[in-house]
Amino acid sequence: MYRYGYGYGRGYAFDATYILVLIGALLCIIASAMVKSTYKKYAKVRSMSGMTGAQVATEILRRNGINDVSVVHVPGELSDHYDPRHHSVNLSDSTFNSSSVAAVAVAAHECGHVMQHYKGYIPIKIRSALVPAANIGSKIGLPIVILGIIIGMTPLAKIGIIVFSLAVAFQLVTLPVEFDASHRALVMLGDYGFLADDEVNQSRKVLNAAALTYVAAAASSILQLLRLLMIVNNGDRNRR
Ligand SMILES: [Zn+2]
Repeated sequence: MYRYGYGYGRGYAFDATYILVLIGALLCIIASAMVKSTYKKYAKVRSMSGMTGAQVATEILRRNGINDVSVVHVPGELSDHYDPRHHSVNLSDSTFNSSSVAAVAVAAHECGHVMQHYKGYIPIKIRSALVPAANIGSKIGLPIVILGIIIGMTPLAKIGIIVFSLAVAFQLVTLPVEFDASHRALVMLGDYGFLADDEVNQSRKVLNAAALTYVAAAASSILQLLRLLMIVNNGDRNRR
């Protein structure tokens, strides 16, 4: 794809650093397959309490005295998320009306994000603050690097790398946010008696699998960053 990285046209037929991008893509595919299969497995296990994802979310919010956040049904599969702007916990088709262990786990995880906002959890503040920069970084970081390489301006390519690393930083700070939301969810599910101990363990498997997709995405963008650094440094050396 980025054919301009061949050490400034030294005539290589294959850019070896592209392997890093392929490894990253492979990690993401594996993680995505794992979350899907784990979710599918525990979507068939009905929780003993019989509470649906929506009921669990509503009850968690109520017990924590949070009454300005609504629980909303949104279309799609695994499209569950907490929307802090509209103060809504959005639960997908497979979560909202389901009383499976998987549905309850996901619903509680989204409430974990609500709790992070309400408790002033620092990483989620950093993450929110990084959103605009990360959007810019992921959109124009790479084009700037490529442009810098094409026109032979290494400083420009280096600026592109710095811009791109904003997107990487965002993905890194997402990791503690996701792990913490899952931790909060599992503690609440057990403490409030919404799930029995063995069901909490099953929920942990679902949430760990989901967290793995964030780990894979972060690893993949670090590999991409590494690749850009190698290409630009290599080009730099060849010019000297
Ligand atoms: Zn999350």
